[in-house]
Amino acid sequence: MSGLTLGVIGAQIDDANRGIARLDPDAMKALGCRIGDVLAIEGKRVAHARALPLPPAARGGGRIALDGVTRGNAAAALGEAVTVRAAGDVPRALRVTLAGPAIKPGLIALGRVLEGMPLAAGDSLRIALPGGREAELRVHSVQPDGPAMVDATTAVAMEGAAAPEATGAVRYEDLGGLSRVVERIREVVELPLRHRDAFARLGISPPRGVLLVGPPGTGKTLIARAVATESRAAFIAVNGPEIMDRYYGASEGALRSVFERARKEAPAIIFIDELDAIAPRRDGLSGEKQVEKRIVAQLLTLMDGLGGRGDVVVLAATNLADSLDPALRRPGRFDREIRVDPPDEQGRREILGVHTRAMPLGGDVDLGVLAGLTAGYVGADLAALCREAAIAALRRAGALEAAEIAPGLAVTQADFAEALAG
Ligand code: ADP
Repeated sequence: MSGLTLGVIGAQIDDANRGIARLDPDAMKALGCRIGDVLAIEGKRVAHARALPLPPAARGGGRIALDGVTRGNAAAALGEAVTVRAAGDVPRALRVTLAGPAIKPGLIALGRVLEGMPLAAGDSLRIALPGGREAELRVHSVQPDGPAMVDATTAVAMEGAAAPEATGAVRYEDLGGLSRVVERIREVVELPLRHRDAFARLGISPPRGVLLVGPPGTGKTLIARAVATESRAAFIAVNGPEIMDRYYGASEGALRSVFERARKEAPAIIFIDELDAIAPRRDGLSGEKQVEKRIVAQLLTLMDGLGGRGDVVVLAATNLADSLDPALRRPGRFDREIRVDPPDEQGRREILGVHTRAMPLGGDVDLGVLAGLTAGYVGADLAALCREAAIAALRRAGALEAAEIAPGLAVTQADFAEALAG
């Protein structure tokens, strides 16, 4: 059966991490597959997912909706093309071993979580943990050799230590209420990083520095991590205040080694959190603030030294763009700015969706109502609220002390009310 070439679009938040792909019913027909059949989705790698129909509004464009995990498994970014085939009959998995962060035995029935997912060795997957957290795991082996379908009889076991790259990859679907910001960051950072040659041919100079401006907890770090994952770039984080080492010369040295590492691991994104802490306006600095002056000078030199290759982009977060040294804002330095504002009600609803995705929710939980009750909350507050509600549910079930969590335990509206009052 020959394959269909389809363009990759993102998945709805509720579809994430379930091993599903959505495509046009016509495309499914052309592939000879029905709802629930396994598809082989080929980018630079082959991923497997079960086929479901796209919602009517998204049909007709030759598209396939994949979540970040499946895009990672197919090694295909948003907007890229994949070749899709029907995988035919996929055997039942007898045994699956996973690598990843240690999960407390008894905390989760891994087999049940993975049921219905077609897996092959080397795939990444994400699972929900009690308390609203998620773990990213790597499929170490599958018997028979994958793809094979996990069912109730599959033996699922953890294997060995964590593969470092298998943990904590952030995807665009993990960002709530930031679709405009994501659009901008894709244009300004992801596309130039991924298509450096095309940009060079067109004579467009790629950006070196991009400021993410907004109050704390609005998801600036998360965006930087997500764009690194989605651009397949290394992510190197620098915490502003932490680098303010007072020993003479040590901070500059630390900055230099960050840029050196980025160059070695390029394409790379350097993320500087709280840039205002290390690079305030030099004119207002008193004598004892010499260290800041030296750091600003060093940062300017390092950014100028990046040249026009475009394979290293520096993202920096700040609450107040005006408080930065103006020399940093000149062309070729931090000359682009993306505002990351606190979420509105719709944004809060989406963020609550992200942070409850991994939770069993009671039928009475209404995220729309919660979004209305949480005016003024930023993403970090909403994440904490969801965590608190999950803990309230566990406490209510007496599960904090027990080894096993009752199967049917769900987080209810009352748990959220308790967390809100908390
Ligand atoms: P900032 O860098 O702007 O201070 P972070 O990205 O560090 O904020 O956000 C802290 C945490 O809050 C994140 O790890 C995430 O759990 C949550 N969070 C913040 N903003 C969002 C968002 N827009 N969508 C989903 N989660 C968010």
